[in-house]
Amino acid sequence: MNFYIRDCLLIIENMKAGILIIGDEILGGNTLDTNSHFAAGLLRAHNFEVQNILTVADNANAIRTGLDILFSFADIIISTGGLGPTKDDVTKQVVTEYFGTRLIFDDDVYENLNQRYARRGLTVNELTRTQAFVPEAADIIQNPVGTAPVFWLENSNNGKTLITLPGVPGEMRFLLEGAILPRLKQRFSTEHVIQRAIHTVGIAESSLAKKLEDVEDRIEAANSPGEFYKLAYLPTLNQVKLQITGRGKDEVQLKNQIDVFIEEIEKRAHEFIFGYDQDVFAAHIGQILLERKATLSTAESCTGGYLAHQITSVTGSANYYHGTVVSYDNAVKMKQLGVKEETLEKYGAVSEETCKEMLEGALKLFGTTYAIATTGIAGPTGDVEGKPIGTVWIGVGSQYKMVTKRYQFDRNRLENIHLFAITALDILRRFVLGYKI
Ligand code: AMP
Ligand code: MG
Repeated sequence: MNFYIRDCLLIIENMKAGILIIGDEILGGNTLDTNSHFAAGLLRAHNFEVQNILTVADNANAIRTGLDILFSFADIIISTGGLGPTKDDVTKQVVTEYFGTRLIFDDDVYENLNQRYARRGLTVNELTRTQAFVPEAADIIQNPVGTAPVFWLENSNNGKTLITLPGVPGEMRFLLEGAILPRLKQRFSTEHVIQRAIHTVGIAESSLAKKLEDVEDRIEAANSPGEFYKLAYLPTLNQVKLQITGRGKDEVQLKNQIDVFIEEIEKRAHEFIFGYDQDVFAAHIGQILLERKATLSTAESCTGGYLAHQITSVTGSANYYHGTVVSYDNAVKMKQLGVKEETLEKYGAVSEETCKEMLEGALKLFGTTYAIATTGIAGPTGDVEGKPIGTVWIGVGSQYKMVTKRYQFDRNRLENIHLFAITALDILRRFVLGYKI
């Protein structure tokens, strides 16, 4: 299977890009480089294959070497940083020399600077005026959000292209996304890339892959020299994102074909799918409850309020969520939720019996349609015989029906707590939608 996909990647040649991050402050560990992260994501999403990301100092030698290295792998370099008017920034001088051109004064850039300053009641000083000197051979892209314009430099012999962007993250993002990317696509890319995501919960990557075997075959079979589709499994804790990417010249054809794949996936895995693209799990839970005009409350021991946090991360959750009792101490379990002392003594706090009484307690206290209870051991200490780290009892129910189930996870403390909460929400989802638990 992999061979086939690789063959297709070879047939459809992507434009190769490199990212050059210029700045002493990055190398000194003073500033976290967020520019390459943003640029790489955006380029990748638009079918430019980022080959390397390189960080260099604000000096001529380092920048020249950086350009040489990146151009040996790529046709396009996006650089950020070093375009300020002060002496420490040298990118402009170096790239001007590198492309065998010279600096000239650009009236449009100067006019743009004056207008920007005038709007703020300021005048352009001598130092800022130097921002209007630009490489003669460059295409200049004005910067409406800062003082440094963008230079688009192209080597006429081999087409190798350098685009220099300012280092300030907000400016860089604005310019790359709004001005540079559309030009890049026009100049270098003739293909469309469509990416859709299907979000699943409560099923392991391997089990999902088993269910989707024949869909994967169909996706492979749809590949041709001019059209390429790929299904990726992207797991996080207890969730798997299925990402379908389609690349080709005909955008409508790509969309239609991906819709067909999504339908096929739905047929085989509908009970695990909670959303698409930007959808968020806790919001889906809210949607399910709102549709049924139902309400929810929680009784949390091991999740310590994290379950409530997940639920209330969703805007409008007040319309269905009433509250939680963080019953970390047994006294709270008894006093607030009515868990019986004998139950705690006989079975322990982490037990089906305690979980059930916590659930009953929450339903009674809050009077909600549904409630969830969690009691477990997040670790890394606190295990007892027969109840290892990562053990959790989750209860979900209404006043008519209750289910309790034991799960075993094996992650670190915070990951376990996250898994407890997501699993609890998933059991609620299955309970409300009538799926087997
Ligand atoms: P420069 O264009 O090099 O003068 O950079 C201006 C400011 O942008 C710097 O002081 C940094 O705070 C910030 N900056 C530069 N490069 C990066 C980067 N790669 N990631 C995040 N911030 C950056
Ligand atoms: Mg700098």
